[in-house]
Amino acid sequence: MSSSADFNPDTTALSTQLIHHPYQPPSGFASLQPAVQKASTVFFPSMAAVRNRDWAFKTTYTYGLHGTPTSFVLEERLATLEGAKHCLLAPSGLAAIANVNLALLGQGDHVLVPDNVYGPNQSLLRGDLARYGIAHGVYDPLDVDDLARRITPQTRLVWLEAAGSVSMEFPDLPALVRLCRQHGVAVALDNTWGAGLAFAPFDLEDAGGEHPLGVDVSVHALTKYPSGGGDVLMGSISTRDDTLHKRIKACHMRLGLGVGMNDVESVLRSLPSMELRYRAQDRTARHLAQFLARQPQVAKVLHPALPDAPGHAHWQQLCGARYGGEGACAGIFSFVPQPGYTQTQIDAFCEHLQHFRIGYSWGGSTSLVMAYDLAGDRSLPQSLQRLGGHRLVRLCIGLEDAQTLERDLAQALASTF
Ligand SMILES: *Cc1c(COP(=O)(O)O)cnc(C)c1O
Repeated sequence: MSSSADFNPDTTALSTQLIHHPYQPPSGFASLQPAVQKASTVFFPSMAAVRNRDWAFKTTYTYGLHGTPTSFVLEERLATLEGAKHCLLAPSGLAAIANVNLALLGQGDHVLVPDNVYGPNQSLLRGDLARYGIAHGVYDPLDVDDLARRITPQTRLVWLEAAGSVSMEFPDLPALVRLCRQHGVAVALDNTWGAGLAFAPFDLEDAGGEHPLGVDVSVHALTKYPSGGGDVLMGSISTRDDTLHKRIKACHMRLGLGVGMNDVESVLRSLPSMELRYRAQDRTARHLAQFLARQPQVAKVLHPALPDAPGHAHWQQLCGARYGGEGACAGIFSFVPQPGYTQTQIDAFCEHLQHFRIGYSWGGSTSLVMAYDLAGDRSLPQSLQRLGGHRLVRLCIGLEDAQTLERDLAQALASTF
């Protein structure tokens, strides 16, 4: 049977009738949400269509692993969000990071990450990629000259993160990109914090606004803000350049990185409210950061919008004009308790909180807390010196009432320190 036109229920076995039902997708049905279209197999109308399939640029459908109309819609919306041309989905933010590393690096190559890089990226470089003969180094994200000294003729890729993980330093992104351009090194940004809202990663420019200094690749953990529900794992890889996109897509295909369409549906459903959620969490987070900065038990608050935070001037330059001069920040920050406090006291503080739950991730509706000891985590001594301590508490702000969260922090501080 080659098409539903040949279908004759009277003469066909029941099992075959159940499979070859003459279903056609509905036309003339319109609703808010794109349909959830799931597939491993995608039918081709002819062998010629098979031979002309296009897995790289979405002009045809080929196989579920390369996407369905549902995932293509999400990819297009994310490309719009980040100001990119192409976007690929991956099963997690970390899978997206791994895809970029594996696509752009080979034996004998060298890659550089900031000292405050998302930890599992560096674990991949230290583990499997080191085994494959790919070397890595760590640079100080707040020192452009330090990056300049560490670039070698073998350096193929530099990772950027703004703000950095846990300690929240905000780098001078355009200056770092300019340096990489001068050395012909590709630049990948982990843009989970900015989420496409705080700044436009492909439209960075120098201070005079004369030279475009956009990143080559922007990776986003959709697990965080775009999902917003604490229940989906997904990542994206956005690019503007066709050749770069095709290289990453080819590797993506060889690695078999597919996503489930029910998860795509969840992200599509949350995406329209993302900017409202981002701004609400930003407001509450800044309120709480300012509250904590006034408390005697707190040595330092690490939030890029606070004037004494590391890299604050770079944040001001890049994100300060957003939203009528309010500026934009993700609702996540850390603080360093006074140096006399023990880890036991810090752990007790986390456990005393009633509305902040202990857990990883961020961007969801529930506020989260996590204690970190960065002493063994950072390679460069100046990274820790700048923070004024190595024991940190990270707070990820949810959608609860700001006053409730402030009272919760106050009672936990009072009862544990
Ligand atoms: C969470 C996170 C990731 C990884 O996302 P997963 O979906 O959890 O794998 C990558 N980078 C940053 C900055 C993150 O916060």
